Amino acid sequence: TAPLAEVDPEIAQAIADEVGRQRGTLEMIASENFVHRAILEAQGSVLTNKYAEGYPGRRYYGGCEFVDVAENLAIERAKALFDADFANVQPHSGAQANVAVMTAFLKPGDKLMGLSLAHGGHLTHGMKLNHSGKFYEVVAYEVDAETGQVDMEAVRRQALAERPDMIVAGWSAYPRQLDFAAFREIADEVGAILWVDMAHFAGLVAAGLHPSPVPYADVVTSTVHKTLAGPRSGLILAKEEHAKKLNSAVFPGQQGGPLMHVIAAKAIAFKVAASGEFQEKQRRTVEGAQILAERLVAEDVTAHGVNVLTGGTDVHLVLVDLRESELDGKQAEDLLHEIGITVNRNAVPNDPRPPMVTSGLRIGTPALASRGFGAAEFAEVADIIAEVLKPGADLEALRARVTSLTEAFPLYDGLEEW
Ligand code: PLP
Repeated sequence: TAPLAEVDPEIAQAIADEVGRQRGTLEMIASENFVHRAILEAQGSVLTNKYAEGYPGRRYYGGCEFVDVAENLAIERAKALFDADFANVQPHSGAQANVAVMTAFLKPGDKLMGLSLAHGGHLTHGMKLNHSGKFYEVVAYEVDAETGQVDMEAVRRQALAERPDMIVAGWSAYPRQLDFAAFREIADEVGAILWVDMAHFAGLVAAGLHPSPVPYADVVTSTVHKTLAGPRSGLILAKEEHAKKLNSAVFPGQQGGPLMHVIAAKAIAFKVAASGEFQEKQRRTVEGAQILAERLVAEDVTAHGVNVLTGGTDVHLVLVDLRESELDGKQAEDLLHEIGITVNRNAVPNDPRPPMVTSGLRIGTPALASRGFGAAEFAEVADIIAEVLKPGADLEALRARVTSLTEAFPLYDGLEEW
């Protein structure tokens, strides 16, 4: 019962330092968010002690009556939130949810067609070093060189030529909405399973600000920790007819005991995501990204070779294109880090610079929207970023502007121990 600071002062210090970092900087990594205090509590609870292999009511361990309550709540809330027939809430992460889907629907050597990693896809959608790229034959579609967007006619032509067994629609770095109805038609034309990975935009779907893939896809995966603002973990939704093979692909297919403390936290996240407050936050998230995109396409910025892919955004992130800028992705990321803004460099399609350098930035608004930012604060953040991307920025003055924003929006106030 001794407190963390006594048992392990070094880890206690690392956590304290990380809380300080989160409080004192502007978190703009598009895949990150700040979870509700209730989620921290559930994840730090005694549910972490419980083994519960199997599914509610059909466990391989005794004493599961209370964790069954938590998992049933998570399942029912996920189904209600996304209007899905079936939910599996056990995947430990988004990548594991994706492996379960591939193993449920494909045999090794089958053909998987997904968006190229270099064009905004995720590594679990067919990158050669990933499970998906090692066990399946992969064909990648790309964004159109002119528009930067996925061209559904090109996807159709490629699918007809390649006849994939499964098509995955979804992305990690793409600022527009995909046309799920068109993907469904193409999948039907070639007899492919349609899998949508909505990891990034699930929160927008939950809030009704983005079309839902659920009516179109055979199976949908997601992470719970990005726009959805829940614990770090994965989720699978599907039509009822696929329930059995998906459950068995997760357990015993690739996982042992589920993380019951995380599943309880997922249940909380799904409850919160059904609230008006969550919808309002998602609205500010998209609005913030749009304010940022508008500011970065103004002439005083584009004059320095800074552009925004696709010219704007419909979602929670902006992709900055630095191909014509003297700054590369790494330098821009470092400059922003220096003034207290955390983003990640990101390759742009057909990037001339190497992958560790890149010619782009991915900048997201979910965490700042969770922190309470609205249009006025996002306009100030956009201005600060615009200044950094122009030559000769006064970094000290910009760091001071960041600090006044972080101080005006305290994070986890009163949670000193965290
Ligand atoms: N799918 C997409 C589209 C993602 O962007 C990510 C994470 O970045 C994942 C899956 C993997 O999630 P995790 O990091 O939880 O394994």
